[in-house]
Amino acid sequence: MGKEIQDKIYDVIVIGSGPGGMTAALYTSRSDLSTLIIERGAPGGQLINTAEVENYAGFKSIKGPELANNMYEGATQFGAEYTFGDVREIIDGKEYKQIITSNKIFKARTIVIATGAEHKKIGIPGENELNGRGVSYCAVCDGAFFRDRPLVVVGGGDSAVEEGTYLTQFASKVTIVHRRDELRAQQILQDRAFNNDKVDFIWDTVVEEIEGENNVDALQLRNVKTGEVSELPADGVFIYIGLLPNSDAFLDLGITDQEGWIVTDDHMETSAPGIFAVGDVRQTVLRQVATAVGDGSIAGDAAYTYVESLKEDLALKEEV
Ligand code: NAP
Repeated sequence: MGKEIQDKIYDVIVIGSGPGGMTAALYTSRSDLSTLIIERGAPGGQLINTAEVENYAGFKSIKGPELANNMYEGATQFGAEYTFGDVREIIDGKEYKQIITSNKIFKARTIVIATGAEHKKIGIPGENELNGRGVSYCAVCDGAFFRDRPLVVVGGGDSAVEEGTYLTQFASKVTIVHRRDELRAQQILQDRAFNNDKVDFIWDTVVEEIEGENNVDALQLRNVKTGEVSELPADGVFIYIGLLPNSDAFLDLGITDQEGWIVTDDHMETSAPGIFAVGDVRQTVLRQVATAVGDGSIAGDAAYTYVESLKEDLALKEEV
């Protein structure tokens, strides 16, 4: 069956409704640009899976879903529309761009991609079941919940080693479980971890199961060299085995780096004029609510400038 083609050409279509996307929509709709947010899940992005946010200015502490709802209400208060859709492809045209979802085709003068990133999962029993109840992918978000308790970090890259060291300010002890016998992390990060009394390492080992009834109690480990299986008690496990950008639908545009992160300039514009990217899907140094919101405001403002100049161009063409 053919896809339903929408007639309306929006000034801006925002793909994804995490903090970055919702901020971009707030800015563009408040500037009177017709704005549509397309989201494949619920509004809020990773906020929905975040118990408490304690590092977003203005809130001493707020539950992730509550902040997501506030952002949704803020983003739609000036007329931004919101619809469900799973975006598969963008076709970049001069006067407007087409956004192809699984069943519809939308049109927009400009696009803000805010599709975020996903933490790679290990794919073991207990990982999904105990997510948010001891299993975490964000030390900055959740570390403070584990004061004086033993934690495990999985991975051997910059994130695992840096975040593992960061977690020692809360935890009684942090054990980094890595599948090889040497770390991938930068030397300076390794040195800091090796010199930290609270950090232990278990080498050549993978986690096979995360155990616990309501909260994480222990991990089942297997040494990949000896095959020996053991149990490691822990109250929390932070998994840092890499991130995956949600950018599959945009690879054909040539706006991503080798790993799939979208590259932008200071205005959040990609190498495709009128296509912007914000938040976690962007090639960036910090992935937080605050940085996504900052990106969204810059992109919203830049999209306004882009649409205005495009409209002027089109009006001039009509005059000729
Ligand atoms: P990463 O560099 O891809 O490292 C992932 C780690 O997880 C590796 O040690 C890898 O083991 C391990 N791993 C992968 N799949 C696994 C699996 N299925 N089971 C167990 N272990 C697994 O990811 P990252 O540390 O999140 O870093 C992502 C990017 O951000 C990198 O480019 C990094 O340099 C950058 N970053 C930089 C900083 C900084 O500069 N301060 C901080 C954080 C991140 P192997 O080593 O055996 O492959």
